[in-house]
Amino acid sequence: MPLRSVEEHLAHVLIQVTPCTPEDLPLPAAHGRTTAEPVRAAVDIPVFDNSAMDGFAVRFADVAAATPDRPVTLRVVADLPAGTDLDPGLSRGEAARIMTGSPVPTAADAVVPFEDTAGGLADSLHEIEVVQAPRAAGAHIRRRAGDAAAGAEIVPVGVPLGALQLAAAAAAGVAVVRVSRRPRVAVVSTGSELVPPGSALRRGQIPESNGVLLSALADEAGAEVVLRTSVDDTDTAFLAALEAADAAGAEVVITSGGVSAGAYEVVKNVLQGGGIGFTKVAMQPGKPQGFGRLPGGALLFGLPGNPVSSAVSFETFVRPALLRMQGRRDIHRPVLRLIAATGWRTPAGRRQYLPAAIDRSDPGGWTVRPATSGGSGSHLAGGLARAEAYAVVPAEVEAVAPGDLVDVMLVS
Ligand code: AMP
Ligand code: MG
Repeated sequence: MPLRSVEEHLAHVLIQVTPCTPEDLPLPAAHGRTTAEPVRAAVDIPVFDNSAMDGFAVRFADVAAATPDRPVTLRVVADLPAGTDLDPGLSRGEAARIMTGSPVPTAADAVVPFEDTAGGLADSLHEIEVVQAPRAAGAHIRRRAGDAAAGAEIVPVGVPLGALQLAAAAAAGVAVVRVSRRPRVAVVSTGSELVPPGSALRRGQIPESNGVLLSALADEAGAEVVLRTSVDDTDTAFLAALEAADAAGAEVVITSGGVSAGAYEVVKNVLQGGGIGFTKVAMQPGKPQGFGRLPGGALLFGLPGNPVSSAVSFETFVRPALLRMQGRRDIHRPVLRLIAATGWRTPAGRRQYLPAAIDRSDPGGWTVRPATSGGSGSHLAGGLARAEAYAVVPAEVEAVAPGDLVDVMLVS
């Protein structure tokens, strides 16, 4: 049977995805969530005409001719600190001392910074000498709604709320935003050889690492991990874990291990024939993939157990699905085309996803190299620590040579 392409399998996954319901959250709690509705400004930004400088609010006509040789003298009739609600009138020859962000008096149409007066801040509450005319009427005034008017879209629908988006919403007077609920995920590692990291290891045992890998990746993708467990390769233990996932309300179950061609493939053995399909995808690593819907309704991703395979499979299929559940507009990682610093071999007939490190020392010429010294082995879990990207090499390419341009998917 020909292998299924990555695109075909991803499409097969995404078609099964149903969106999470939205909820309303106060801004700080919405950090990292995806907008379920556009965020619209409740107030203008800026809220009112205000000063961009510390200095003096003036009538432009009064000072239009000021030069160092022919300074213009003004009388200071008011002082306007930040937060003031004063709106002093200004007659000819009068100015108001004003601080950055304070409301510009209705009667003023320019601000003269302290730097453009003879006395500066030191001598600023009686008479001042303006030695430099403002550039034009309106100089150093930030106009009301100059950035956004009330009602304007500040953040579109389907984007993640990072610090900058939350700050923009707050500045626009928004306290509560409508965002997607986090998908609830269970992570089930399978393998009779697995023991918790840090445990003493008898012969044949290894530290369990996919649990923390997949739950951290799920968390980074906006999901809430409701269960993380590791079970041995017995049907009863695996079935009990699926029951626990259901009891925890998991909408997505991510398993690792037990889906390939060996004798004790517990995930495959237990689930094959039900709603879960087991497929071979034309990628390396990550060829064996299980996917489908469990009887309780949760989506199940049966990922291969090699740590690099699990990581790549998550990137390729699970993360896009979790983002789509949250209504994310852009579900793909950014891809850069970079120069390969060294060469490496690639598998025939399968797209390669190689954990890669990027040399960023030349901002105009980043280069990419394998993160693992041993090449593309899917068991080289230690090298993952150096990876910040995956080099993605097309199926038909047989080797990458130094200097070749390679597509690089950034994951950090
Ligand atoms: P499997 O897909 O179950 O055949 O596992 C493939 C390889 O990945 C084996 O060498 C396993 O020991 C290893 N492996 C499977 N699951 C994990 C895990 N959760 N943590 C670390 N290594 C694992
Ligand atoms: Mg196994």
